Parts: sequence; C-alpha cells; structure tokens
Amino acid sequence: MFLGQIQGLFMTMRLWDILDILVVAFFLYRIYILIRDTRATALLKGLVFLGIFTVIAGWLQLHVVSWILDKLMTVLIVALPVVFQPELRRALEQIGRGKFYVSSRVMNEVEWDHVIDDVVAATMTMSANKIGALIVFERSVGLDDRIDTGIRIEGLVSKELLGNIFIVNTPLHDGAVIIRENRVMAAGCLLPLTRDHNLSTELGTRHRAAIGMSEQADCVIVVVSEETGIVSYTYGGHIYRGQDAESLKNILRNYLVTSKPKGVSDVLQKWRPLK
Ligand code: ATP
Ligand code: MG
Repeated sequence: MFLGQIQGLFMTMRLWDILDILVVAFFLYRIYILIRDTRATALLKGLVFLGIFTVIAGWLQLHVVSWILDKLMTVLIVALPVVFQPELRRALEQIGRGKFYVSSRVMNEVEWDHVIDDVVAATMTMSANKIGALIVFERSVGLDDRIDTGIRIEGLVSKELLGNIFIVNTPLHDGAVIIRENRVMAAGCLLPLTRDHNLSTELGTRHRAAIGMSEQADCVIVVVSEETGIVSYTYGGHIYRGQDAESLKNILRNYLVTSKPKGVSDVLQKWRPLK
C-alpha cells in the first residue's frame, strides 16, 4: 500500500513540482551552509529532537506530554529570533550582500599551501621574538564588516608582509589581520570580545577578541602572545593553546583546504594525460 502511494505520487508529479522541490532543496542547503558550525546547529538538532518527540508522544496518545511539548514549541518559536538575533542579522546581511551564493573562486591545494606556509613561518618568527599577532582566516561567513573596521590592504599573503604589519609601534600593528584566500584584506581590524567569564585570567583582550570572533563566524584565528610567545588558534568559541609549526600547519590545512567539488576545469584537468 505504501509503495502504491509512492507510485501514485510519482504519477501525478508535474515538471513544476520537481522544480519546486529543487528550489526548496537548494535553499535548505544554503541555509545549512550558513548555520553550519555556528551555535544554531545545536539548536536545530534540539528542535528536530523535540519535533520527533512530539510526533511519538502523539502516536502514543500521551496527552499531557503532547500538550506540554506543543506549548514548548510555541514558546521556542517566539524566543528564536530574540536569542539568535546576531545570527539572523548576519544571515540577512549576507543575503543582502549577495553572499548567499558563496564566492566562485576556489583556491587549489598548492595555492593554499603557499599561504599556510607563509603564515606559519611568520607566526613562528613572531612567537620567537615575542611579537603579538592576531590573524583571522575568513571561511564561508564573509567578514566584510570586520574588514571595514581596519585599514584596507588587499595584498598577497607573504611572511614578509605579515612580519612587517605586526612590528610594535607601527601604525598597522594594533588589531587583527584578516586573510581572504591568498590576500591580506586588511590590518588593524577590531574584533568582538568574547563574553565568556570562565576564561583564564592569563588571557587578555587579544585572546578574548580571537575567541569572540570565532564565536560569531566560522573563521579560524591564529594568535601569538606578546607576553609569552605562545601560539594559539581559536575556532567555534574555543581556544587551543601551545601550537607548534607542525600542528598549526595541519590545523590550517584541515580548516582551509576544502575538498569540495571544484570548477569544471579542475575536474577536467584530472583527466588530462600526464606528460
Ligand atoms: P598578550 O598575551 O599578547 O599580552 P593578551 O591576550 O594579554 O595578549 P592584551 O595584552 O590585552 O591581550 O593585548 C592587547 C592587544 O590586543 C592590543 O594592543 C590589540 O593589538 C589587540 N586587541 C585587543 N582587543 C582587540 C580587539 N577587540 N580586536 C582586535 N585586536 C585587539
Ligand atoms: Mg597581555
């Protein structure tokens, strides 16, 4: 009977229905990309769980449980826009900036390796010399609003450029550098501080800014402490301290070198016979 129903469904399906489904699927996928790795993911899982629980309670005719779940859902739906105001704002801003469809250019592995090698080399030199640094790698969430708080550079990443930017008492050294693909977009950028009160008092504003920024976007951030030379990175609101060159390189490769399907030309290139 169930199979018959599915068959019936396919028989009555029109071309427009298929288009309808594809459009909805595309939008759901883009929304997933937007909220992936943000705190909204955990919430979504919670909502799905509650939804499943509600259906099961309905089936088993648990009236009181169903009633409570029903009311809870209503409260949650009203509370959502309030709690997730920053995320919603960001999502709307991205759609407004045309960032709903993420940038077309995908750097290949070799290009990323150059960028990562240079950043790691600069980081280790600064760590050895106890020069404070804050380097943000933009990922799928655009950081234009942060870039606007600094001085625009848009220069190719090199260890020399990064080394120069963070020299103490120079105009650009204060604040964060933001890297988009192979470009230093800006220096001297202001990042949002975390509100986490449970952090160690050893962590001052530079580290708090790195954690705060990673709470709000899916970027990965490298921090060098001026006081101790310790290299850390932050991601998803967490700080991972005491990195060496090797571990930092691996982590950055993990976060930045995407194995997403690339452009048609990249796929074709693989099929070309090797000379
Ligand atoms: P360190 O271990 O290097 O001393 P810290 O975590 O103790 O780091 P501070 O000593 O307070 O932090 O570092 C201050 C520096 O951090 C500032 O000079 C500035 O460059 C940077 N910084 C502080 N707040 C921000 C912010 N909101 N956005 C970007 N950079 C910031
Ligand atoms: Mg300090």
